[in-house]
Amino acid sequence: MLLGRLGPGLGVFGTFLLPGALHAAMAAASPAASAVHGQDMGIAAAKRQPPHAARGAKPPPRLVMLDPGHGGKDPGAIGVSGTYEKHVALATAEELKRQLEATGHYKVMLTRGRDVFVPLEERVARAQAQRAALFVSMHADALSDHSVRGASVYTLAATASDAQTAALAQRENSADRFGGPQQRNMPPEVANILASLVRKETRAGSARLARGMVGSLDESLPMLPNPERHAGFVVLKAADIPSVLVEMGFMSNPRDEQALRQASHRAKVALAMRRAVDAYFAAAGPLATMAG
Ligand code: ZN
Repeated sequence: MLLGRLGPGLGVFGTFLLPGALHAAMAAASPAASAVHGQDMGIAAAKRQPPHAARGAKPPPRLVMLDPGHGGKDPGAIGVSGTYEKHVALATAEELKRQLEATGHYKVMLTRGRDVFVPLEERVARAQAQRAALFVSMHADALSDHSVRGASVYTLAATASDAQTAALAQRENSADRFGGPQQRNMPPEVANILASLVRKETRAGSARLARGMVGSLDESLPMLPNPERHAGFVVLKAADIPSVLVEMGFMSNPRDEQALRQASHRAKVALAMRRAVDAYFAAAGPLATMAG
């Protein structure tokens, strides 16, 4: 549903490149187009650019790819009262998309806009095909110890920061087992090799985003101890897109699960994440955009 309305808006700009006559014919055929472009019509119309495309104008919005974990036949973690991680992940990603777009600074896409299974490789491929400036994977974990709660943020690394994170990466990487025999689970050593292929500046960007996410989430949510961690997450392997995975809490903890079921809590989580994205781009400077 969402993916359908997320296509690139090139059609609008395409009309400015048409020869004058065709432009005029199109404008005549479309009252809306005529109203918008009316003053551009004439001999020089095809060469003129709309004012907002002029040099030095506001840069184009940055493309942020949000990745709601799991979906379709893969429910992800199942909460103590039966809530599915896949639903919490999608609902929070949709809220974050709404908040990011409301700033006017970003274009936001989701790797899945509905309850469907998408293999991990495909999620990365979608971000790369769209030349996303950032990739944020959204999850909510589960552990057999129901007392553990709090948010945490992960980046890709060849070696896991701790045994708990190594196990988490294994759980998240095993999502592809739902894809049938053609979607084989990737062994950890392969994920580790992938980590070595990520460009140095991408790693630095991921680390900066992860730090910002932790700082921002910490202001409004309970956090795991040492909430900034790393391991061989397949979904974070894009060589050229700074990528983080956020575990927004634990479905296995009754308080975290109840909170994540509430739209007001998800809005709070999304706000913290939006602030981290804002800070990331503010530090990158006004010219670091999705273009180039
Ligand atoms: Zn997950």
